[in-house]
Amino acid sequence: MNRQMDEPLDLKARVEQLCVMLADIQQHYAPAVFANSLGAEDMVLTDLIAQRFPGISMFTLDTGRLPEETYDLMQRIRQHYGVTIHAYFPDATTVEQYVAQQGPNAFYESVALRKSCCYMRKVEPLKRALQGKKAWITGMRREQTSTRENLELSSFDEVHNLQKFNPLCEWSTEEVWHYLKQQSVPYNTLHDRFYPSIGCAPCTRAVTPGEDVRSGRWWWERADTRECGLHVRNTNTPHE
Ligand code: SF4
Repeated sequence: MNRQMDEPLDLKARVEQLCVMLADIQQHYAPAVFANSLGAEDMVLTDLIAQRFPGISMFTLDTGRLPEETYDLMQRIRQHYGVTIHAYFPDATTVEQYVAQQGPNAFYESVALRKSCCYMRKVEPLKRALQGKKAWITGMRREQTSTRENLELSSFDEVHNLQKFNPLCEWSTEEVWHYLKQQSVPYNTLHDRFYPSIGCAPCTRAVTPGEDVRSGRWWWERADTRECGLHVRNTNTPHE
């Protein structure tokens, strides 16, 4: 990955702004949760929340198909910060039935089977994770892909009925990586092997320089079907 490590001029200001926002969420939106995808940008949030905002809890979605490197990172976060990231798993009976009827890798066969796999392994556990919460926080950024260029800093999530915050929405890739290096934050080693966006192991591959950062996700599908349903606009239009 070609990471330019020039000092971003306004990184300090960005971090201060971010902390003001996290403090406000912690104070006014309790209980608030951070949906931690364990990607590079989410490690910026992990670093700050774990050390400075104990009132914000963290969770991740363990689909059961994550790469080994992602489990390694979960373990390192535990050791480094002494915090627990609550892992939500899919419903075991639903997965057993899906695998028995369709096979373990049915997601390659059709968009419908892929989406039903994403639904049972991600969307349904996300609903459970957000139940009873006043706000959720994500690490999404406008720069990540064209479908995120209008991403808002904060909006009401009508689907899950709570406030949604994307406090890194204006951060650049360079700023994310500069922060991670400057603060010696642990990160997924797959990023060093040309995986800018990391999801489930069978549905993620490395990209070549210059390709869209999300082009390694569900690469066998047309670009307009590549979403997992986690981030849905209020119009019910898939966002991711
Ligand atoms: Fe299933 Fe792939 Fe979606 Fe993971 S990314 S939930 S393995 S279809």
